[in-house]
Amino acid sequence: MSGIPKRLGAKPTFSFEYFPPKGDAARQRALKTAIRLSARRPDFVSVTYGAGGTDRSRTREMVADVCASHVTGRHRCPVMPHLTCVGHTRSEISELLEGYAAFGVSDVLALAGDPRPDLPPGDFRYAMDLIEQVREETDFGVGVAAFPEVHPRSPDRATDRRRLAEKLEMADFGITQFFFDADHYGRMVDELAGLGCEVPVLAGVIPVTNPASVKRFADMNGTDTPSGLWQRLEDADGSERLRIAVDAAAGLVQELLDLGTPGIHLYTLNVPEAIEGVLDALGIGAPRAGA
Ligand code: FAD
Repeated sequence: MSGIPKRLGAKPTFSFEYFPPKGDAARQRALKTAIRLSARRPDFVSVTYGAGGTDRSRTREMVADVCASHVTGRHRCPVMPHLTCVGHTRSEISELLEGYAAFGVSDVLALAGDPRPDLPPGDFRYAMDLIEQVREETDFGVGVAAFPEVHPRSPDRATDRRRLAEKLEMADFGITQFFFDADHYGRMVDELAGLGCEVPVLAGVIPVTNPASVKRFADMNGTDTPSGLWQRLEDADGSERLRIAVDAAAGLVQELLDLGTPGIHLYTLNVPEAIEGVLDALGIGAPRAGA
C-alpha cells in the first residue's frame, strides 16, 4: 500500500494543499511556507497542477523542492502532485509519472482538469482514463476529486453520484472541492453509501483569506458562498479578516470531525498564518517541543 492510503483510517488525517506560483521569488516564498507548515506535521501535502505551458513544469519544480525539503527537513510525509489529463498524451503522462517516482513521490491526485480550447485534444477525457494509466504503470496511491455540491458539468445529481462512486472504486480515496456547509458533505457521503461506496473522502476546507478570488473559484464550481460570511470578510482587512477566515474554517472543520470525516485537506493558498490559526483553534498539529 502506498504512502497516503496507509495513513488513512486510524484517525482523521490533516493535509495541506499548495499551489506553484509564477516567478523565482514567489517560488522561494511558497517553499518557505511549506517548510514552515511542515512543523505542524501534516499526514501529507499536495501541489496543484496547471494544465498549460510553463504551468506544467512549475508543479514538477515545486514537488521536487517540497520533496527535497520534507525528506531532509524535520518532517517526512508524502508529497502528492495533482495531475490533470486534459490536453495530455499517454506518453507525456508516463514521463511525468516516471519523473515523480524518481523524486520519491508515492501518490497522485488524478483529475480530468477543465477543457482547454488552447490545448491539443490529447488522449484523455475523464479522470477515470488517467486512473487506468496510473494503475497500469505505477503502484502509486490514487486520490480523486469529489464535488459535494455536484460537479458543474454533471447533467443531474444522481448521475454525478453514480459516476463519482464508480471513480472512487477505482481509486484509494477522494478529496472534496471546498464548501461552506457541512450538510453538503454529509449528504454526499450518505448518497455514496447508498450506492455501496465506502471509499474514504477527505473534506476540503479553505480559510477565506482572499474573498474575491475564492468567490471566483466558487462561482466556477457551483459552490454556495454564505453571504453573511462574505460581507464580514469584505468589510474587514488585515488581521481582522484573517481572524474571521480562521474562525469560520475552524468551525467547519469541527463540524466535519463531528460527522466522522476521515480527513481534512486544508487549501492553504500558500498563506501559513491562516492554517496555523485553524490548527491552533482546534488544538491539533502543534509543533513538537523544540521544533
Ligand atoms: P471527472 O471525474 O472526469 O468528472 C468531470 C465531469 O465528467 C463530471 O461531471 C463527471 O460526472 C463527468 N464524467 C466522468 N466520467 C464520465 C464518463 N465516463 N462519461 C460521461 N461523463 C463522465 N484542476 C486543475 O486544473 N489543477 C488542479 O491541481 C486541480 N486540483 C483539484 C483538487 C481538488 C481536490 C478538486 C476537487 C478539484 C481540482 N481541480 C484541479 C479541478 C478539476 O480538475 C475540475 O473541476 C474538473 O472539471 C473535474 O475534474 P474531475 O477529476 O472531477 O473530473
